[in-house]
Amino acid sequence: MTTITPPPRPAHPFFTALNYKPAAWEEQALCRRFPNESDAWTSGKGGGDDAIEICKTRCPVRQACLDAALREEDMGNLARIATIRGGLRPEERGVLIRALRAARAKVAEENAARAAAQAEEVAA
Ligand code: SF4
Repeated sequence: MTTITPPPRPAHPFFTALNYKPAAWEEQALCRRFPNESDAWTSGKGGGDDAIEICKTRCPVRQACLDAALREEDMGNLARIATIRGGLRPEERGVLIRALRAARAKVAEENAARAAAQAEEVAA
């Protein structure tokens, strides 16, 4: 069976008005090729499962998409929090972000303890 993928849609007028320049990987985003993308990729509107399947099995830029989502949301940019990104629902990305923050906090704690121990050695 041949899978037909629609051609890319022109940029949304909102982004055109903002003079938004998508990252290179965004040009290959498979979700941009589907009509009604915003509904299908919005997990709260009954969409989600089909979008997740497409993300995970067919999108060539899934990793870049997920990296961008985690980076943006970790920094507090929640503009697209309600959507499927990188094949994950918002709550799944939230779990990853909390794990990343916990890992960073642990490393910072270990570094501080190491620095304090070195300072004690120098002072002794
Ligand atoms: S992985 Fe990201 S870019 Fe690819 S289809 Fe899913 S949401 Fe779109």
